Amino acid sequence: MTRTMPAGITELDYTCWELRYDDDHEVHDGDGVPHFKTEDEAQNAVHHYERDRVGRPNPRRRDQPCFIITAACGHLLDEDGGTPMHHDTAEEAAAVAKSYGWRPRGDGRLRCSADCDQGCNEPVED
Ligand SMILES: [Zn+2]
Ligand SMILES: [Zn+2]
Repeated sequence: MTRTMPAGITELDYTCWELRYDDDHEVHDGDGVPHFKTEDEAQNAVHHYERDRVGRPNPRRRDQPCFIITAACGHLLDEDGGTPMHHDTAEEAAAVAKSYGWRPRGDGRLRCSADCDQGCNEPVED
């Protein structure tokens, strides 16, 4: 299946794991819902999220790969300098990139800021 991605949006080449409690609520921390690359990484984190009454969450694989936002300079759009934000759909990721002021350059890539000196503002070749 081929489809056109919005500028700067990449689908991960793996499917994330997340943690869910037995009541089916997903684990949240200060940055949202944590994602893990492997089941082992998820399993190693369960003790951080143990709660009274509901106990420890269980790793669960998500349904499909997440999407991330990358600028032409290689800068990943993240929150508070932590892990890059993951998005459920390419369309959602594109909307978030726009809300952060990241703009398409015309070559299918994004410019992270007007004063980026890492390559975002180099002329785009046609
Ligand atoms: Zn993810
Ligand atoms: Zn940049």
